Amino acid sequence: MFAFSAINLGCSKNMVDLEFAIGEILKYSDRAPIEYIEDPESQETDYVIVNTCGFLSSARQESEETLSYYDNLGKKLILMGCYVSVKDDAFLAGLKNLVSIVPFMSYSVIEELVLGKKSKFNLSAIVKAKQAHKQSKEKTLSNYLASIEAPGKGKKAFVWRGDEVRAYMHAPFSYEYLKIAEGCDNNCTFCIIPTIRGRQTSRSIESIVKEVGVMLEQGIQEIQIISQDTTRYGTDLYEEPRLIELLQQIDATIDTYIAKNKPANAPTYRVYYLYPDILSLDHLSKLTELKHFLPYFDIPFQHASENILKLMGRHYDRAHIDSFIEYIRDHFPASFIRTSFIIGFPGETDADFQILLDFVSKYQFESVGIFEYHDEPLAASSKLPNKVDESIAKNRIKEITPVLNRVYDGKFTARKWKKQVGYIMDIKDSTVIVRPEMAAPEIDDYDEVFTSSIIGATRIGSKVEYILPIDASPHRDDTINRHD
Ligand code: SF4
Repeated sequence: MFAFSAINLGCSKNMVDLEFAIGEILKYSDRAPIEYIEDPESQETDYVIVNTCGFLSSARQESEETLSYYDNLGKKLILMGCYVSVKDDAFLAGLKNLVSIVPFMSYSVIEELVLGKKSKFNLSAIVKAKQAHKQSKEKTLSNYLASIEAPGKGKKAFVWRGDEVRAYMHAPFSYEYLKIAEGCDNNCTFCIIPTIRGRQTSRSIESIVKEVGVMLEQGIQEIQIISQDTTRYGTDLYEEPRLIELLQQIDATIDTYIAKNKPANAPTYRVYYLYPDILSLDHLSKLTELKHFLPYFDIPFQHASENILKLMGRHYDRAHIDSFIEYIRDHFPASFIRTSFIIGFPGETDADFQILLDFVSKYQFESVGIFEYHDEPLAASSKLPNKVDESIAKNRIKEITPVLNRVYDGKFTARKWKKQVGYIMDIKDSTVIVRPEMAAPEIDDYDEVFTSSIIGATRIGSKVEYILPIDASPHRDDTINRHD
């Protein structure tokens, strides 16, 4: 029996890779007894996939601590994720139970792991076997995944059988991540992702639209479109950015699905990681024409002082970002802007910080991730002079946090007593946790309301209407991380 479980460290992009790895393992469920176990610490779990993060030394440390923990529990370890590209071989050599390292998006080692032997390469036999096993695989795999129904959760996870196999673990919550590209062509001085994940590699529009079709057929209502730099989608493949064309095709695919299936709710999608430099007002005007695009703008500005943006290697100025924030506010009445800032970056003066404070006060962002600068030894910025003292950085974070919270509280209060729409994420005794439609899963605040105020099916993943009572307060728990 290949009894395995999995742990995802790091971001949603990493999570998608894990879902492909799980799908790849389940693919063999007609050739070997395989069981997926939710709890990695369970006695029944033999193998644990640790999908690591490596983007910061603290993340690498967390990855090593997680590997050591399960190694000491005697679990057979399958290592994958960003730590693989920056791994400490001496540390890995010290692990007793490391059985496999899965490189990015190449899962051939999994076959050997699951079937315990490298298959002899006899092409004709393989072709015949593939045909035969395709039929049988289809059956057992869906039966298998039907069996991993999460307790109390309405929908089931499912598998997409395109040219790769993927397990959609978020399906019970009616959303799923769609990764459209890997890697990044930018060289922000504080970031080592291009070192870890390489240069941008976009999927073809055809393969993405095909996966969207499958997600819709499986009842996914909200698609989370992710990559490292979504604005540049397609530049490597089509020699020009093709994000707008891709979104137009996704919009049309949803229209076709709606016409054919007449679902109760029209599916939607949101786009993350819009790198600001080549984002233009023309792009934004084209977004106003899309029917199923959620006006959620995830644009990581990282700072507002041009002095610091230059030191970060970010190629845009204030005039540029001010222009499209104002365009967004003017043309998308329900716009939700999420962003993130690094505080304490080398060279940041009181004046730079004041520019940032004024920026957030002026634009009243709906959601902001605040990072304290960290001298990442593998990043170029670690070589920059004028390091900011940690206590100064911490004091600046103390100063900006109440400014942000005042904005959040004001926006939360403005939503009270008004009809809200959202997805049920959890059901408690007399209350339910609802993700407001404009809130991104696992990142932005949810609402907690009495079950009695819900209009619609009180089931995990269902889309409902509700009223936020006057005494409501934002729901924030450890599943929510503004720092994704
Ligand atoms: S855009 Fe910059 S911060 Fe984002 S992944 Fe690329 S290099 Fe890193």
